[in-house]
Amino acid sequence: MEHIHCLIIGSGPAGYTAAIYAARAGLKPVLYQGEEPGGQLMLTTEVENFPGYPEGVQGPQLMADLEAQAKRFGTEVRTGFVTAVDLVGDNKIAIVDEKYKINADTIIISTGASAKWLGLPSEKRLREAGGGVSSCAVCDGFFHRKKRVVIVGAGDSACEEAAYLANICEKVYMIVRRDEMRASKIMQARVKNKENIEILYNSQTEEVIGNEFVEGVKIFNDKENKSIILENISGFFVAIGHTPNTNIFKDFLEMDEQGYLLTEKGSSKTNLKGIFACGDVQDKTYRQAITAAGSGCIAALDAERYLAEKEASLLV
Ligand code: NDP
Repeated sequence: MEHIHCLIIGSGPAGYTAAIYAARAGLKPVLYQGEEPGGQLMLTTEVENFPGYPEGVQGPQLMADLEAQAKRFGTEVRTGFVTAVDLVGDNKIAIVDEKYKINADTIIISTGASAKWLGLPSEKRLREAGGGVSSCAVCDGFFHRKKRVVIVGAGDSACEEAAYLANICEKVYMIVRRDEMRASKIMQARVKNKENIEILYNSQTEEVIGNEFVEGVKIFNDKENKSIILENISGFFVAIGHTPNTNIFKDFLEMDEQGYLLTEKGSSKTNLKGIFACGDVQDKTYRQAITAAGSGCIAALDAERYLAEKEASLLV
């Protein structure tokens, strides 16, 4: 079994920032990138609110910059997915890709959160077949240029993606389950100002229609108590929020009812000594790249202090 000082799981802004700080502190961190290297920002276009980029920066470029900065100070960035952990007693063991075992003195968890789906069989089938069901307008909108698409959701993400799609598609239907949107006023205005976006309130998706590719979408309006079929649709986008990636920790770490890791107030400490959490995996409130990065810094400082205290106690 390989022994390391500091294992960082996840490669979003939180993980890379933790790596920068841990590496500069001499912890020789090893960072596993996970299934989606770079995390959610890889699916974004322009990021205008990350301090230090007055002209804005493309999401993938920001992540490439963070990775390069982490490597510059000696972080070992590895491809691989941590498939299990053993955190019983003093154990801090991670198993990578179901076989490779690592024993770490500290673990920083920055596994982020993943897109939610509606859970309809038709959605799943067409998504798995690559038939035009997607959770990322920026990634897949291009395939629907000058076509008609549907997007589900009413938060800031749905508004952002709907506005993006409206710039390239002929028509965008936005399916909102209540009679109002959750999104901020400014994001709602962005959607409402687009002539080719039609918002269908009080509406739920019943079925994504199509054999190999999306062809239409069946919508139920619960106010009028009737279903309609939107025809000639080529893309079905889902933007209804995210689920924290915490499944492998559920037997060991305290979480809230939605699965977000719980940390001690004002720190990144989980309920287990030497295990720290940062970024979207423990933050369902702010969920910004900059807050994730800030919490990554906190996690690295907490890990460094934990190791220093442990070392000092051995010397007494
Ligand atoms: P949110 O949790 O804010 O919104 C999810 C939306 O999906 C809600 O409107 C919800 O409806 C709807 N929804 C959930 N489940 C279903 C379902 N089964 N069927 C239909 N609709 C459903 O997630 P977001 O991803 O939009 O945003 C996450 C965070 O990121 C927020 O804090 C947001 O402000 C932030 N953000 C900010 C941006 C910006 O400022 N540029 C851009 C993107 C995100 P309901 O309202 O009825 O619950």
